[in-house]
Amino acid sequence: MNEQALLSFYRSLDRSFFVGDNYKVLAHYDSPLPIGYEQTISQPSLVYEMTRLLSPEKDSRVLEIGTGSGYQTALLAEFAAEVYTVERIEPLSEKARQRLAALGYGNIFFRTADGSSGWEEKAPFDRIMVTAAAGTRPVGLIDQLSANGRMVVPVGPPSVQDLLLITRDAQGNLSEKNLGQVRFVEMVGDYGWRF
Ligand code: SAH
Repeated sequence: MNEQALLSFYRSLDRSFFVGDNYKVLAHYDSPLPIGYEQTISQPSLVYEMTRLLSPEKDSRVLEIGTGSGYQTALLAEFAAEVYTVERIEPLSEKARQRLAALGYGNIFFRTADGSSGWEEKAPFDRIMVTAAAGTRPVGLIDQLSANGRMVVPVGPPSVQDLLLITRDAQGNLSEKNLGQVRFVEMVGDYGWRF
């Protein structure tokens, strides 16, 4: 992907649009913020970095797990062909849908469900972005990654996780790289921490 274009879009995207009225004044700080239902919008610099590492291309079909506010979704939709985004909390999904429609995106498909095992009917995906902490490597999601695919996923206990970049080469072989420690809210579901 064109990193310069990502950086300028990231700088132009108004994060206050993705949080409730009480948090709009704090939206320009580089820190997570509450979005209700015990969930958070991530630190923006981390969203930027994860998008850069996922590196969606113009023709990529992207799966995102954890729509949340829709902020990360906007960055993905701007640079990919289609984004399939799954959120387990209905009102968050609905609010994100309204925001992203207001911004004019027509290439985002929303689903309210446990996304810990992916979106089988729409698989495989060229890119998979997971924005909730998986307890173990989410094999169901990895199965839905295309040849030449890339996946970014935080794996580890609720306190701190390793951010993994999992790639699948043209022959289908997987490899992974540890990108450092992060802290995300728990993924709830089959490959998460609790049901
Ligand atoms: N990318 C979001 C971050 C949201 S926090 C943003 O920029 O705002 C992580 C989100 O993952 C929460 O909204 C949480 O409800 C959701 N989540 C947790 N487990 C999930 C699961 N199994 N399937 C789908 N969404 C899940």
